[in-house]
Amino acid sequence: MADFSIDPEFEAQLDWIREFVATEIEPLDLAFAGEEMVYDKSSRLYAEVIRPLQQVVKDRGLWSCHLTAEYGGQGFGQVRLAYMNEILGRSQFGPTVFGSQAPDSGNAEILAHYGTPEQKATYLEPLLDGRLSSSYSMTEPQGGADPSMFTTRAVRDGDEWVIDGEKWFSSSLRFASFVIVMAITDPEVSVYKGMSMFLVPTDTPGLEIVRNVGVGGEPEGHGGHAYVRYNAVRVPVDNLLGGEGNAFAVAQTRLGGGRLHHAMRTVGAVSRCLDMLCERALSRTTQGELLARKQATQEKIADSWIELTQFRLQVLHAAWRVDQVGGHAARKEIAGVKVATPKVYREAVLRTMQLHGALGVSNEMPLAAMLMASVVMGIADGPTEVHKGTLAREVLKDHRPTDGLWPSEHLPDRRAAARAEFAELLEHAAAEH
Ligand SMILES: Cc1cc2nc3c(=O)[nH]c(=O)nc-3n(C[C@H](O)[C@H](O)[C@H](O)COP(=O)(O)OP(=O)(O)OC[C@H]3O[C@@H](n4cnc5c(N)ncnc54)[C@H](O)[C@@H]3O)c2cc1C
Repeated sequence: MADFSIDPEFEAQLDWIREFVATEIEPLDLAFAGEEMVYDKSSRLYAEVIRPLQQVVKDRGLWSCHLTAEYGGQGFGQVRLAYMNEILGRSQFGPTVFGSQAPDSGNAEILAHYGTPEQKATYLEPLLDGRLSSSYSMTEPQGGADPSMFTTRAVRDGDEWVIDGEKWFSSSLRFASFVIVMAITDPEVSVYKGMSMFLVPTDTPGLEIVRNVGVGGEPEGHGGHAYVRYNAVRVPVDNLLGGEGNAFAVAQTRLGGGRLHHAMRTVGAVSRCLDMLCERALSRTTQGELLARKQATQEKIADSWIELTQFRLQVLHAAWRVDQVGGHAARKEIAGVKVATPKVYREAVLRTMQLHGALGVSNEMPLAAMLMASVVMGIADGPTEVHKGTLAREVLKDHRPTDGLWPSEHLPDRRAAARAEFAELLEHAAAEH
């Protein structure tokens, strides 16, 4: 039985989060705009403002809710996370203050699953506590969506692995204490069996940030995404995570949840777009009447509301499936949500931009940045086209080819079979007329 009610205790928590985000966190977005500030945990902003806010969240029992209690989280399950993340998605600093900032959240899951006790003590515990940052290095300059293009190698040398190669768009690397790197350890087999995952402390000799790359209108030379070179970077054998050849199994630990959490936060961003759309429609008069009275505006509002509602239900359903059967068995639902996310977001932003006219495309509204964020959603964690392929393959598993020449819905065959079943009645009816 489907039930969309939320228990009163959790509803009260959500009300508190809504208020806290609006009054305490959104001002940070405005005063300290810029993606990089979120990751710089050595900054005064962190010490004086963010840490005290994080403590409030911890005291309230809402810290790192995506993690189990064993790792200092609340073990909320995905459905509760969905309700929570759609509020946090309205603010850039929200996930940081609540201990669920990517890529740290996914990297924490990898270390929790595959780290040694020493690695957990050195990296996982401070990461979970919000005291250090991490990064994830998979994409390479010559190919991101197709891992068979990757060339970064790791070669065993005694008690160490030696990593050589280049990675691209390793987010927040320059603030990270460690990075999780995917590298080929056996070039003789397919990449899906021949790649492994390594924990690399960022102060290891040979790790060289070529430059940091920004997104959209960020000035060239600034940005949070590192183009990084690993020049004979040596790590101890213990830094191989999850065993040799298991990079993709390890990667899945972080990617499924990450994609779903992006979608949950996008629900929040899209509802923010709808709020802006409606406020504008009710505030702006043209040709003697409010924009809200124009049929074209009503169509925009209706379309945005319908798509938001459909998307929100799709995200909640995917979250519920993950809770019921786990991320692997719910990959169809996760892929569906990943594909829908950029589209729903982009369309919502475009309608809201359009209704705001010049102001909408100006740098005095958050919409241009949101438009870029919507495009990013269709690329980061794998492009839409690849996820559509995954989704289609999963959907096809529930279908079979036709036995004969004609489709099973071909009317002449179906009608002949139905007529044969009712032959006597049909003959009787024909005789009567
Ligand atoms: C903001 C942001 C943050 C990121 N953070 C990280 C990070 O922290 N760590 C990391 O390792 N990577 C990160 N990435 C990289 C991201 O994972 C890759 O950009 C993504 O996998 C696509 O790889 P690519 O950019 O090389 O594009 P390509 O693989 O070159 O693909 C380009 C385009 O080709 C088309 N295409 C590709 N494959 C297919 C296909 N099978 N069928 C049809 N069309 C196809 C699609 O239109 C696709 O967008 C980040 C990216 C962004 C934008």
